[in-house]
Amino acid sequence: MTETSPAIEGWFTTGAEPALVGSRCTTCASTFFPRTQGFCRNPACDGEEFADTPLSRRGRVWSYTDAQYQPPAPYVATTDPYEPFALAAVELPEGLVVLGQVASGYGVADLEVGAEVELVVEPLYSDETGVRTIWKWRPVA
Ligand SMILES: [Zn+2]
Repeated sequence: MTETSPAIEGWFTTGAEPALVGSRCTTCASTFFPRTQGFCRNPACDGEEFADTPLSRRGRVWSYTDAQYQPPAPYVATTDPYEPFALAAVELPEGLVVLGQVASGYGVADLEVGAEVELVVEPLYSDETGVRTIWKWRPVA
C-alpha cells in the first residue's frame, strides 16, 4: 500500500489551497517560518508564546536560480538523467523570505525579481511507501 504525504511533516497544509505553517508571536505578532518555540527572535520582544498561523499563499520573487548539478543526498533525483530545477526565494507579505523549488514545468526563464508567485504542493520524490510532497512556487500568469 502506498500513500501521498508531505516530505516534511507539519511544515505546510495540503488540499485545494495549501499554505505554509508558521509561528506568530502572541506578544509582538512577528511571524517565523519554519515554526519556532522558546523565545521570540525579535530582539525588542520578550515573548515566549507562539500560535501556529498559515502564511500568505502568494508572494513576490526576491531572488532565484537553478540547480544545474544534482544536489547531494538527502536530495532524491526524480529523473535519470538528472534534470535541472529552478529555486526561488519568495518574499511574503509577513516579511519572510521562503526558499522553495519552482513548480514543475517552470524554469528560470519564467521568473523575474518582483514577479508574483503562488504556493502549490507537488510531488518531491517517491519511495517504497508512496509519493512525498513539498511546497513549490508557481508563477502567477
Ligand atoms: Zn515577539
